[in-house]
Amino acid sequence: MKELIQKLKETQNLSKEEWISLIENRSVELSDYLFAQAREVRHQYYGKEIYVRGLIEFTNYCKNDCFYCGIRKSNANTTRYRLTKEDILTCCKSGYTLGFRTFVLQGGEDGYFTDSRLCDIVSSIKSSYPDCAITLSVGEKSYESYQALFEAGADRYLLRHETFDSVHYQKLHPSSLTAENRQQCLWHLKEIGYQVGTGFMVGSPYQTSENLADDLLFIKSLNPQMIGIGPFISHRDTPFKDQTSGSLELTLFMLGLLRLMLPKVLLPATTALGTISPNGRELGILAGANVIMPNLSPINIRKNYLLYDNKISTGDEAAESLNSLKRSMADIGYQIVVSRGDSLN
Ligand code: SAM
Repeated sequence: MKELIQKLKETQNLSKEEWISLIENRSVELSDYLFAQAREVRHQYYGKEIYVRGLIEFTNYCKNDCFYCGIRKSNANTTRYRLTKEDILTCCKSGYTLGFRTFVLQGGEDGYFTDSRLCDIVSSIKSSYPDCAITLSVGEKSYESYQALFEAGADRYLLRHETFDSVHYQKLHPSSLTAENRQQCLWHLKEIGYQVGTGFMVGSPYQTSENLADDLLFIKSLNPQMIGIGPFISHRDTPFKDQTSGSLELTLFMLGLLRLMLPKVLLPATTALGTISPNGRELGILAGANVIMPNLSPINIRKNYLLYDNKISTGDEAAESLNSLKRSMADIGYQIVVSRGDSLN
């Protein structure tokens, strides 16, 4: 199996059968070997720097009903909220002072935020912080909407494809949502000129090694600037409440593979990774990740953006949690830097 990892490192390409074989035959020893190779590649392009993105979860209203997601529209146990433009600008202000140079606006698919409202928010952030990048993560939209938001000043867009295989996709989503449309959105975003992020959940219900291999092949063909992956974690108020969550071990292995497949990609150690293990994000960095996305949302609403059970939310002010992240990253030999952190990919 080590030969396959060497081949991947040298060619950045494997066949579907080779991906499946690596995933199914992984071991502790193989993982350690993979992570060492992934770190080498990561250090070559990004050194020991870690980029931070200030995450602003600005609405938990959502018109969709994804079977796994805690803010799905059918969950009547969630207290719904929307931040105002002023709230969002206040988050950016405190984030800027702390050294954040990327703001990520993430939310459910909330009809209240029309193109004109969102464009106004994006252009206001851009004019106040012209040296910052704005990332949107607000789901599937028309080409025209993506175009308008790009022209308003959005630089990047995160839209996980969730799973490439359309049969698997349909086991995770209602029939109103399709894998084809999700993927089409990603191609549109790329065409418009966004720096694009995609990704998937690891260990989502009914996922097979073949599904994961298809995810890797799709990502290779999309060639995005960012890839967000994290374990699926069950949420008590969803149809998947009794499903087993994804593992730390497989998520780390997939991070290592992604670093070798797209050496210059931006790879976050996600909140979900930090949720399934207290040192999950540190282990993610040691497996090849190079981005962390601390929460800049107001403390009082964080408990309502609960995508899955036990989502980490320290209740600390952004400053406090950034300081503790800086310490824990320094402990493993990495430095959080003040930078837009654009992708080299
Ligand atoms: N609405 C936007 C969209 O669809 O991309 C952004 C918000 S959505 C909640 C962000 C991501 O959360 C999804 O892409 C999904 O992968 C992740 N997510 C949702 N529920 C999850 C769960 N139970 N476990 C792990 N990740 C989850």
